[in-house]
Amino acid sequence: MERNVLITGASRGIGYAAAVLFAREGGRVYANYHKTYEPLRLLAESCAREGQTLIPVQADVTVKKEVDALFALANKTDVLINNAGIAQTKEFTQLSEADWDNMLAVNLKSAFLCSQAALPYMLRVKRGCIINIASVWGVAGASCEAHYSAAKAGLIGLTKALAKELGPSGIRVNCIAPGVIDTDMNSALTQAERSSLVEATPLGRTGLPQDIARAALFLAASDFITGEVLNVNGGFYI
Ligand code: NAP
Repeated sequence: MERNVLITGASRGIGYAAAVLFAREGGRVYANYHKTYEPLRLLAESCAREGQTLIPVQADVTVKKEVDALFALANKTDVLINNAGIAQTKEFTQLSEADWDNMLAVNLKSAFLCSQAALPYMLRVKRGCIINIASVWGVAGASCEAHYSAAKAGLIGLTKALAKELGPSGIRVNCIAPGVIDTDMNSALTQAERSSLVEATPLGRTGLPQDIARAALFLAASDFITGEVLNVNGGFYI
């Protein structure tokens, strides 16, 4: 894959695993981070030793000015993975306006900003692939994660609408809905909570970031798939 790939939120977890995989597959990877630089600095060095190209780029993807600067650098992005995200568990009645706005900004507005910034190039070359990382909770809804579920459901709606609007221009837009994946996002789970999640998963384990990275690579390589929500959850939600 001799393509320019931009991954938001690539400093840890799923985004980091995707950055490793796409670089290994020959992509020129722009790995966005917000605050956590060190893992990407080390990864960029190890990629360079292997003859791979990975470029860490700092930006808060909720801020248009920073997104524009990001795409001024990665101005020929063929594959955009909108992965940056945050989660929060809180009863709906306790959610503040700031909780809501922040959740929607990081998980949904960022995909709007980044997709819009990536499109001038994609439209010019009549080719491109956008992959949005949603969540099983955007499909099924999660108790005490109303704002997260709403943001991820919004991402699924955005995916389907853009797939229709951009398909005639040769641009595919898909979505991955991961189940429970072992990353920092789930570090607060207790052992008992983790066991019950595993028990509820037919394949008998939680997911690895690499499971989602491989799904993203599959979608990036599949010429005739668009508007799809790929559930990668071990059967946790069927
Ligand atoms: P994670 O380990 O917590 O990593 C989150 C990433 O998002 C970090 O790289 C972080 O960057 C970045 N980020 C947060 N706010 C940002 C901002 N304003 N601008 C740019 N980057 C920002 O999370 P993860 O589990 O890998 O999750 C990745 C995606 O998968 C998220 O969209 C998440 O909702 C989704 N997902 C995860 C699970 C799961 O079980 N883990 C399940 C379903 C869906 P810094 O480190 O630099 O702050």
